[in-house]
Amino acid sequence: LSIGVACSGKKEQPEDYNDTDLAPAKRAEILLSQMTLREKIGQMCMYVSDGVKPPTDTLTSTADDFVDYTLKNNELGQLISEGLVGSFIKVKDANTAGFLQKLAKKSRLGIPLLISTDAIHGHGMTQHSTTIYPTSIGLAASFDIEAAERMARYTAEEMRATGYHWTFSPNIEVVRDARWGRIGETFGEDPLLITEIGKAMVKGYQGDELSGDDKVLACAKHLVAGGVPQGGLNAAPSDVSERSLEEVFYPPFVDNVNQGVFTVMPAHNEINGVPCHAHGQLLNGVLRDRWGFNGFIVSDWMDMEKLENVHHIAKDRKEAYVKSVLAGVDVHMHGMHFLDNIEAAVKEGLIPESRIDDAAKTILEAKFRLGLFENTATDAKNIDKKLRTKEHKALALESAKRSMVLLKNDGETLPLGDKPLKILVTGPHANSQAILGDWAKRQKPENIVTVAEGIAEFAPKGSVIDNYDCGENAVIDAKNIATAKRKAQKADLVIAVVGENSLRDSRHKTSGENIDRASLELPGTQLDLLKAIKTSGKKLVVVYVNGGPIASPWTVENADAILEAWEPGMLGGQAVAETLFGLNNPSGRLPITFPQSAGHTQSFYNHKPSLYSRGKFKFAKREPMFPFGFGLSYTNFEYSDLKIPAKIKAGDTLRFSFTLKNAGKMDGDEMVLAFMTDKYASVTRPVKELAAFKRVSLKAGESKKVEMSIVPERFEMLDLDMKKVIEPGEFDIVLGLDNIKRMTTVE
Ligand code: BGC
Repeated sequence: LSIGVACSGKKEQPEDYNDTDLAPAKRAEILLSQMTLREKIGQMCMYVSDGVKPPTDTLTSTADDFVDYTLKNNELGQLISEGLVGSFIKVKDANTAGFLQKLAKKSRLGIPLLISTDAIHGHGMTQHSTTIYPTSIGLAASFDIEAAERMARYTAEEMRATGYHWTFSPNIEVVRDARWGRIGETFGEDPLLITEIGKAMVKGYQGDELSGDDKVLACAKHLVAGGVPQGGLNAAPSDVSERSLEEVFYPPFVDNVNQGVFTVMPAHNEINGVPCHAHGQLLNGVLRDRWGFNGFIVSDWMDMEKLENVHHIAKDRKEAYVKSVLAGVDVHMHGMHFLDNIEAAVKEGLIPESRIDDAAKTILEAKFRLGLFENTATDAKNIDKKLRTKEHKALALESAKRSMVLLKNDGETLPLGDKPLKILVTGPHANSQAILGDWAKRQKPENIVTVAEGIAEFAPKGSVIDNYDCGENAVIDAKNIATAKRKAQKADLVIAVVGENSLRDSRHKTSGENIDRASLELPGTQLDLLKAIKTSGKKLVVVYVNGGPIASPWTVENADAILEAWEPGMLGGQAVAETLFGLNNPSGRLPITFPQSAGHTQSFYNHKPSLYSRGKFKFAKREPMFPFGFGLSYTNFEYSDLKIPAKIKAGDTLRFSFTLKNAGKMDGDEMVLAFMTDKYASVTRPVKELAAFKRVSLKAGESKKVEMSIVPERFEMLDLDMKKVIEPGEFDIVLGLDNIKRMTTVE
């Protein structure tokens, strides 16, 4: 044998994948060379962990006895013992994760498992009590990039503390249909905002190098165009032009790939006739070859199987797996049939073994980078110290406060001030954990501040609060509505907390994955509740708790104030109360257009000029209810002295400055949105696009000179030949929705 013997005759140690001095990719290569075909395919297999139960009865068995028992008597246990499992999903807790790792360690090569979860806005799907932040759409409303990075970093810390290493986040889809039920999981409709938040989260999850025991794998999902499904229905086909893909739907992915996101998940849907899970041109061609992605691709839930049983582009399961793997998907989520079918396919020459090598090697590299070969154990005794820390909870509260969007404030209804009040608090979300949003399990009540609890705590001293709990169901029965109406008559003011419910384990879900909306009105009988309350003649303050836009014309017309709270997370009730009582000046802005109704879908703000050129609706307004970027404040800001160069050269950054004054009586933050319009081009351009944004804090009466810039890429467009160019010409720059406008010429 010549291996390990150098020319000098001196014996050299063979390279060892356990050598931590070697680069992760090298270690993966060495390990790969020792693996059988079946073991390599095993790395591509993900399973749900329900079949393997950790020891609960330590009276009759020690943990190690139990490991041996499970390996022998359980199908999954056997697969793990043979080194044929790469990763798990739906793992209950640290104990289960630790147990699974123990099983894996007993296999021939002892390769650790990747434990995955959907930790989208905090580590919400585990049994542990963790920090739950506002959902993605609320985070987007805060336009707070720094908070996004920190939220992801803290989430990664809580994940690693409990034995998890891979999150299916961020969801960087661009939404263009308000009926889609998954909007709460997204950052809304603007490609620039989505890109910036996504990148910050990837950085927070993975760090710069994806190394260290407090970092996790991020996953950019879902590639692509799931946010514009036919009929608004989740997973329905998306027919999208190449220009829209390139200009609208791809950019967040391109930049997140550049940021180093290590995994990508294809979308459930087909685009232009090809399911994303079998789309070689998209996954191998665009994602890998063109954008340079060199991580691995994980299938979405059973989507390989759907190539056969939904899309009908594979004659059987085996062909479905083969098509998907050849198209570039590396990990199969989830089920028992992938391993044998892919092994057979390789042996029959349907898939080259090099394709399996590439997949397994990248997965192994991730495991090396994350340090899993060195240690998978969690510090069981200290887990709770790492969860819901003071810092993490402070961020959960702060970002919830920044996500609040004030939609209406008639006269001076809000803030409610410091005089004692008789308040009726009611509505399906007043006492509900729906404030946690999707991808979160119900939490221990003592860890949550509901809206009613927040109001009780922050109402002025001497106030009388009547908290009428009418249940979590959006269908409120007539008796409850009548009681609420009666109680309203005895109050000075009613705070009604209504909207949608996407909490994973609620029996009363009205939005979320696979719960799309044929109407954008308040679901169930919530509008009847509001109307009944209104007959009392008392002031009506409506708080929306929801993921996607609500289009309730009656409420906009008749409520005295409307506060959009989104799904504000575990301390959301406090954030709502602080906002209502004026301890927090709302500064959030809509990251998505609120249309007049479901019939007005596709009224996103960055549309083409001809949208409103001729057509009108009979008996309905045409323009949106609330545009992208809308949001009121308790103070008012004045823009002046905008200094912008009259001319710049193509490829230059446009720098400008202006004076911003807080002209009102309350301290506050202004979210400055700078929009840009290309006034004339060789192809049609959007009526406006967000080009830059900045949060500015000002004390009452204070003025500041603000400097901002627009980078050259914002001026780019695709010409007639689909080439990226900057066409010389005139551009309008508008600050805020209509605060101040100037033109600049690009030469
Ligand atoms: C969703 C994904 C998610 C996966 C795993 C799927 O149904 O589309 O976004 O990551 O389930 O929970």
